[in-house]
Amino acid sequence: MANTAPQRHDLADFRALAERIDINGPRYTSYPTADRFDSGFDHAAYLGALDDCRAAGADAPLSLYLHIPFCENICYYCGCNKIITRDHGRSARYVRYLAREMALVAARLGERRPVLQSHWGGGTPTFLDAGEMRAVMAALHRQFDLRPDGEHSIEIDPRRVDDDRMTLLAELGFNRVSLGVQDFDPQVQAAIHRVQPVQDTQRVVDAARRLGFASIGMDLIYGLPHQTTARFAATIDRVIDMRPDRLSVYSYAHLPHVFKPQRRIDEAALPSAGEKLDILVSAIERLSAAGYVYIGMDHFALPDDALAQAQRQGKLQRNFQGYATHAGYDQLGFGVSAIGAVAGRYIQNARTLDEYYGAIDAGRLPVLRGHVSDADDQLRREIIGALMCNGTLDIASIESRHGIDFSSRFAEELTELRALAQQGLARIGDDRIDVTALGRLLVRRVAMPFDRYLRHERGVPPASAQTVVRINAGTIPGSTARYSRVV
Ligand code: SF4
Repeated sequence: MANTAPQRHDLADFRALAERIDINGPRYTSYPTADRFDSGFDHAAYLGALDDCRAAGADAPLSLYLHIPFCENICYYCGCNKIITRDHGRSARYVRYLAREMALVAARLGERRPVLQSHWGGGTPTFLDAGEMRAVMAALHRQFDLRPDGEHSIEIDPRRVDDDRMTLLAELGFNRVSLGVQDFDPQVQAAIHRVQPVQDTQRVVDAARRLGFASIGMDLIYGLPHQTTARFAATIDRVIDMRPDRLSVYSYAHLPHVFKPQRRIDEAALPSAGEKLDILVSAIERLSAAGYVYIGMDHFALPDDALAQAQRQGKLQRNFQGYATHAGYDQLGFGVSAIGAVAGRYIQNARTLDEYYGAIDAGRLPVLRGHVSDADDQLRREIIGALMCNGTLDIASIESRHGIDFSSRFAEELTELRALAQQGLARIGDDRIDVTALGRLLVRRVAMPFDRYLRHERGVPPASAQTVVRINAGTIPGSTARYSRVV
């Protein structure tokens, strides 16, 4: 994929197309998506996956995800799996169980395996006090070999982190931070119940730079109450001044029937669908003009960031955190609702603390559900991943590696894709499929024809992009909702 900024005409075409067609789609942080996981997948099935992971060898690197579910305050837009509490006694217990879960998993793996990527997400990982963070990190080091040259990242709430805490994070071995920002506008912040003075964010950015963190990321959300194109542009400009290495600009989807906190958001203050599109187009223009590379979907990065480099080299991948550079490793998930990907299986942990603690007390892995991938899943995951991450699919390579004839195996999919190609989203050749610059803005639409589960659900594949069923859901950072809207 030519790694160039979307041009003005691409954005104009995107703006027009987005008003005409349904651009909803899965985020494909996994294939199949988490809502397809099977509740029959249990502790024994996870043990089998760990045995296969063990067979890969003691030197095979791993990736880890830790979920810390606690937050002190509710943000009204939130769709994450979190527990709102000011009782820090609850996290003390959780930390003990996290260590026990790690011990159960590591015992099955047998060796102290190298870890080249780790991520603490939430909730709010910095809800843990300094002692609790040290305890979690000590438990990790007991069971795994966290390599200092790996990527070790943590999500930060700038309202809850001072310079001492930033120093501690560096000491503990974190080398990447991701800051929740959403919007700097005071009226927007009040409406979403997340008052976060710009100085708090600036202070954390300055500390991260001073301490030598390799990458600073920020999360923004557009489509929030009282946002306008001009107001969000002011936020984008302040963010550009701070120069984070990575940036996610998520779309807010208002689903108060699914996410209770959203009932406290004033619907009348939400921007219209048209204004939301304008906000996004303006944000892409400003970020591109400031030198950010559009990675895809809602992600941007500076040209020398590892994500942008991986994309240039055709090595970008996706995992449950979105775009990633080490997504090829088996990923272990720890904590409530965490998802792992191990030896061709997906595993999701129990969602409630009671279920999570109960399983571990019984000596079981706290599995809620999972999925065993078959050969078709693996083939389609590769195709979807290639289109989503690198914007190109080498058909000959897929045919030789999977022993298939692509055009007959995917005849229906190609018919659907041709309709999208006519809209300018892709170019289909005999030996390759390329996502166009316009298609990169709607890349999940380009991937969707290859989603077997979606095709079965819809029954008859749509003959054109205009006939796709409209499913009214949205992007909720941290949620495993199957569908999300671009706007
Ligand atoms: S958005 Fe983040 S900080 Fe806010 S309530 Fe949700 S998980 Fe907690």
